[in-house]
Amino acid sequence: MEIKINKGILSLVEGDITKQSTDAIVNAANKSLLGGGGVDGAIHRAGGPKILEECIKIGGCETGEAVITTGGNLKAKYVIHTVGPIYRDGLHNEPKLLDNAYRNCLKLASSKGIKSIAFPSISTGAYRYPLSDAAEIALKTAVEYLKEHTDIELVRFVLFGQKTLEVYEKVYALISTDH
Ligand code: ADP
Repeated sequence: MEIKINKGILSLVEGDITKQSTDAIVNAANKSLLGGGGVDGAIHRAGGPKILEECIKIGGCETGEAVITTGGNLKAKYVIHTVGPIYRDGLHNEPKLLDNAYRNCLKLASSKGIKSIAFPSISTGAYRYPLSDAAEIALKTAVEYLKEHTDIELVRFVLFGQKTLEVYEKVYALISTDH
């Protein structure tokens, strides 16, 4: 599914983020930046040791913040690492922190002249953020950014599995009729 928003494109696809040829891909990392399971493990495996070397030098990342490294052996030139919130009950600032994670990735991308960026579904794996709530924040933040900035040409969500893609598509349909 592709939607034109202002000068850019919002795209929702099913797939593996490590295979994307966007300028940057986003990693749902943890605060240590030392690698983990899920999408983080997949990115380090596919991208090789250069990514981890740079992560070690950076030294860590706070929840909601974002940092950038080489893409190593990936097709993408850069990996933007962000840390989503660990979901407890939704009353511990989780929505704001998830919004910050997406927004800070987009801001960092803009500052580096990145034109295309691929996101996974941050916080919805090991960090247990309810999928449709997380999708709403992810999509609203991306739409708002594309409306307010014209430098990024493509924001692609690469959803792991058909079911996750369907949830994102359904949530997009709901929020796009809201305004
Ligand atoms: P978090 O700790 O932020 O919850 P996870 O990596 O556990 O991060 O999960 C985030 C999302 O990434 C989940 O929806 C998971 O299914 C998905 N995922 C795992 N591997 C990949 C991959 N190679 N490409 C895209 N998404 C992936």
